[in-house]
Amino acid sequence: MIYLDYNATTPLDKEVLEAMLPYLEDVYGNPSSTYAFARKSRKAIDEARQKAASFLGAEPDEIIFTSGGTESDNTAIKGVSFARLPKKGSIITSSIEHHAVLNSVKSLEKFGFECKYLNVDEFGLIDLGRLKDYLGPDTILVSVMYANNEVGTIEPVKDIVRLCRDKGIYVHTDAAQAAGKIKIDVKELDVDFLSLSAHKLYGPKGVGVLYAKRGVKFEPLLHGGRHEKNRRASTENVAGIVGLGKALEIARSRMDDEERNIRILRDKLQNGILERIPEVKLNGHPDKRLYNTLNVCIKYIEGEGMLTHLDFEGVCASSGSACTSGSLEPSHVLLAMGIPHELAHGSLRFSLGKYNTESEIDRVLEIFPPIVEKLRSMSPFWNGK
Ligand SMILES: *Cc1c(COP(=O)(O)O)cnc(C)c1O
Repeated sequence: MIYLDYNATTPLDKEVLEAMLPYLEDVYGNPSSTYAFARKSRKAIDEARQKAASFLGAEPDEIIFTSGGTESDNTAIKGVSFARLPKKGSIITSSIEHHAVLNSVKSLEKFGFECKYLNVDEFGLIDLGRLKDYLGPDTILVSVMYANNEVGTIEPVKDIVRLCRDKGIYVHTDAAQAAGKIKIDVKELDVDFLSLSAHKLYGPKGVGVLYAKRGVKFEPLLHGGRHEKNRRASTENVAGIVGLGKALEIARSRMDDEERNIRILRDKLQNGILERIPEVKLNGHPDKRLYNTLNVCIKYIEGEGMLTHLDFEGVCASSGSACTSGSLEPSHVLLAMGIPHELAHGSLRFSLGKYNTESEIDRVLEIFPPIVEKLRSMSPFWNGK
């Protein structure tokens, strides 16, 4: 198998697994219990919190462990809005967010909040001018992703913060794709909330972080015990949190080397595809883009067909669309970037990671062009150019 879908999820790093195992086996005490045995679990969480804080340049009490990127996004967006009730207000987001953000924002309309969506340019960059126009006295929160999961475009989060800071408007960024790939310092970025997810950076599924700056006000999503300083009830996912801490520690120490290696492979794949296959459109920003992500539209054929053929050959990729089983709606991200429907249907996302090798890329470059050729030969839109 050749795995080229790291933006969907990553394999668990063996070192992360090793770090987690004791907390799945022997060290099972409830971290809220008071005896020495349980204090081992508490200590493990405290250490992971310290690692997460170091990773983000945050303070440990600004780190809230959640069940993943989705919960972190929901907590920031709904939490800030609900804390204002009975007052309402408006929330601004971009049209290319992950559905964890888009649908959280949308759900607030039912409660009387107003939602505004920023358009993006052909490269997927948000319109800062439009943001300036949208910001008003009733704006509560701006939520724009750090880097897009489908095309990899990196958004100008610092500029967004600059526009919001003196107006007292909160800024949240979904950094699920950026974390582990780009160095993040929340103090320098000056955002109020940031989400990340362990399984996007070689950690386990079902655990994530919400960074919440000291002093910000938000209503918790989960009410119950006094866990996470009353900000997220439920007995902690100790092994998951330990794994997340380890994954962040590894990412921090090896980020530069990984970037160098993965970028070389991604560029090789990108250039190889553009050289070998005619009529291909590269999606996303030419350089303000995650170094592991390659999203292309292969004209005249459909992404799903290519994925099936790649799957036969053991290659895992994605159509870059959020299409859930059977729904053939093209990607909302590509459509927002102004790519026509028929072209967006032919999109394909390859996202690379630290376990990919050059021979895997060679193999894909060998098998992929004939797949395209075959599908095009059967396409009524392809005239054999
Ligand atoms: C994966 C992802 C999420 C969701 O994270 P989960 O941990 O799977 O809930 C949210 N936003 C982005 C940009 C993602 O890539």
